[in-house]
Amino acid sequence: MRKILIISAGIIIFGSYLLGYNWPLKPFDKRHQINSTFGEYRNGHFHKGVDIKPFGSDTTDTLHLVYSIISDTSYRTNGGNPGVRVGKYYYIHLKNRIQSETYVTAFQDTVGRIQPTEAHLHFHWTSRYPPLSDTVLNPLWTGALTPYADSTNPYIDSIKFYRQGPGDTLLTDTLNRKVDMLVVARDTRTDTTGHAPSPPGTTSVYRIGYEILNTLCNIVKPYWEKIRFDTIPDPTSTSQLNLTYGSGSIISHFRYWITNDPFNPDPSLQNWYWNTKQKVGEPDSVDADCIEDAKFPDDYYWVKVLAYDIRDNFDAESVKVYLDNFLPKVLNTYPKNNGNANNPDTNIIVIFSESMDTNTITSSIRCVFC
Ligand SMILES: [Zn+2]
Repeated sequence: MRKILIISAGIIIFGSYLLGYNWPLKPFDKRHQINSTFGEYRNGHFHKGVDIKPFGSDTTDTLHLVYSIISDTSYRTNGGNPGVRVGKYYYIHLKNRIQSETYVTAFQDTVGRIQPTEAHLHFHWTSRYPPLSDTVLNPLWTGALTPYADSTNPYIDSIKFYRQGPGDTLLTDTLNRKVDMLVVARDTRTDTTGHAPSPPGTTSVYRIGYEILNTLCNIVKPYWEKIRFDTIPDPTSTSQLNLTYGSGSIISHFRYWITNDPFNPDPSLQNWYWNTKQKVGEPDSVDADCIEDAKFPDDYYWVKVLAYDIRDNFDAESVKVYLDNFLPKVLNTYPKNNGNANNPDTNIIVIFSESMDTNTITSSIRCVFC
């Protein structure tokens, strides 16, 4: 009895191990170049797979043949791009496609040849078999396409602030109320083989987010990361696409709305923001009444942005911003208001609720005495 139990446990472990798979192009056990990553901006939709470049440039040799990575029945896929589905795996941009309803054996039977005009295999996989509504999954997860390694960092190009809501008004100098952040970032290279997408740095990052720190470098708003490409619930959703990517994004240039929550199941929470006027202890949407109950009292803050690739290589960039949501208040004076000084040499002390531009204070006091 004991022996049987041990064997059963071994089978379970081996079964989970099979979740990983080799590459659908020869050589199967060698890492291939990834020209495009999962989640990238495309005109009107998200890129829902990876684009794999074959070894060698001769489009007629065996390196451009595509093999199924599982043994199952193949089906031709419909749509603008000719492809083949085997199980949950899709192979797109094929010619000489295998007939539908043909049984194929993994890594033995080809399902087609890469179209010379495309020069890459688009590969994606889904969580469930059609016709069930399916969720696409990232093919570069650890244990998916194998082997795959990456030791190069993504790159953050710029961080800009906009007024939350329609209009996209660029904010400079000081920030107040609800703001959006637009970050240009890219992955410089997606593997360590010396391959680089052409032109370099044109693939999307895997995840990107931000946190807010005060000038003492204490975190005052914890890390917010809602753009993360593990899955894309609906690759054809233009509303989610436009909440993820700002205008000016193209297939090789990505501007991320990192303050949004584009994949939140509740659509009313997707177009989100950083509320610089947030009331302490209250949800994001609640404004403070005065500087005393503000989560971010008027001051300088650091906005720290982090961009990661799927193997956790990252870039971090920080920008200093000034928040100004509240009018300064006079908290106390000496002499007291309407009081009299004892002699003409008395210093007049005015205590404000925040640091002031001393030049303006001097001139206004001088004006009082004029
Ligand atoms: Zn593709």
